[in-house]
Amino acid sequence: MAETPYRPAGGRHHVVVIGAGFGGLNAVQQLKNADVEITLIDKKNHHLFQPMLYQVATGMISAGEIAPSTRQLLRGQDNAHFVNGEVTDINIEDQTVTAELDGFSRTFAYDSLVVAAGAGQSYFGNDHFAEFAPGMKTLDDALELRSRIVSAFEKAEFVDDPVERERLLTFIIVGAGPTGVELTGQIAELANRTLRDQYSNYGTTSAKIYLLDGAPQVLPPFGKRLGRKAQRSLERLGVDVRLNAMVTDVTEDAVTYKNMKNEDVVTLEGATKIWSAGVSASPLGKMVADQAGVEADRAGRVSVNDDLTVGQHDNVYMVGDMISLNRLPGVAQVAIQGGAHVAKLIKAKVDEESTANEHEAFEYFDKGSMAVISRFNAVVKMGKTEFDGFPAWVSWMGLHIMYVLGFRNRTTVAVNWIQNMISRDRGNLEITDQQRIARNFINKNK
Ligand SMILES: Cc1cc2nc3c(=O)[nH]c(=O)nc-3n(C[C@H](O)[C@H](O)[C@H](O)COP(=O)(O)OP(=O)(O)OC[C@H]3O[C@@H](n4cnc5c(N)ncnc54)[C@H](O)[C@@H]3O)c2cc1C
Repeated sequence: MAETPYRPAGGRHHVVVIGAGFGGLNAVQQLKNADVEITLIDKKNHHLFQPMLYQVATGMISAGEIAPSTRQLLRGQDNAHFVNGEVTDINIEDQTVTAELDGFSRTFAYDSLVVAAGAGQSYFGNDHFAEFAPGMKTLDDALELRSRIVSAFEKAEFVDDPVERERLLTFIIVGAGPTGVELTGQIAELANRTLRDQYSNYGTTSAKIYLLDGAPQVLPPFGKRLGRKAQRSLERLGVDVRLNAMVTDVTEDAVTYKNMKNEDVVTLEGATKIWSAGVSASPLGKMVADQAGVEADRAGRVSVNDDLTVGQHDNVYMVGDMISLNRLPGVAQVAIQGGAHVAKLIKAKVDEESTANEHEAFEYFDKGSMAVISRFNAVVKMGKTEFDGFPAWVSWMGLHIMYVLGFRNRTTVAVNWIQNMISRDRGNLEITDQQRIARNFINKNK
């Protein structure tokens, strides 16, 4: 007999939210005082502050500081219930969502659905690159990258062959957007500052770090001037920045690219390759789009209505990295403000006294963009205002501390940053056998 879909007792309007990222969590929190019951489903048990993942990958902060437990975050919200499970099916005709966890399966009936499952890494049809050039979207990714980066320095100490040592000490980052730039800057600082003098057989400053991008500048969304400044700062750190470089192949030992200006094909040998070149929306987007009869673009982003509903279904909302609307970028603020917006519309729907418009269009307020290049150096673009260097770095720090969730995390992140300012050491450079071995094992046996 088919299982009866779960619905909370009491008969209140049931909102199911998929994804406890920036969009989903904000929607839930904004519904705190609404006359609804909320089931929040996420395949991870934590909310992840992705903008600081690169600091986990380079040992600056620990994983828990940017990944507070979702259950803990919702402790004070009586109308919200967390389910740790991976959504495998959405049926918008039956108004149900099915989730699975380690062989268990459960179906939930909803009155309103908020889909906020974010995006994953895209290899533009070359998924086999992933084995050799992992991306950075999850804590597992960041911890695995940390293990690959630190292991490369360890192995270089172990080998005598200078050619093999050079290969081990070569790091190739593909994608010069904010994530690629931030990660590149931090790997350069690890080599030039943190690990300097720690290995007896070689100097870590001999590490070669390449940053490749098919575009003609780094940080394209920041404009030409800041892009040039960021590039020069990276070059001062010893990074070899190669632009107009379209990657055509990634193997265990090398990355091959085509120079789009002169058609030269270049192969760079290097043990550690990192992919930060593209994103594709959660496949749940296409699942909903197909049922609702709306378009999903090549990156899987769904064409939503201007109030963030999908097709004719005015109880199905989508927010954040999964949406395609007015060329909005895939950034945290779009998700945060989208989550708050759909919460407002749901409240208007369930509150009979509300005079708010249930179909109000979503209006995004652009608060600007920031990227850190290295210690004491960042770039900031806020509308027509652009600045860089130390003031930009201070702004970046202030804002990110504000947005990290939880007082405890804010304090420990701040302490780690102060420690990093005054000392060369980083407190989180450990690598475990689990990180080193388990991920490849899991991927092979999926
Ligand atoms: C490394 C990195 C750095 C970034 N830096 C910045 C930055 O500096 N500034 C900025 O504004 N933006 C930055 N971004 C982008 C920003 O993090 C995203 O735009 C934002 O997280 C999108 O929010 P979201 O709610 O749409 O998705 P997410 O925050 O990704 O949340 C999606 C959630 O859905 C869950 N989920 C996915 N599939 C399922 C499923 N099938 N079942 C259950 N749960 C599921 C995931 O576990 C996750 O918790 C960065 C992103 C990355 C990866």
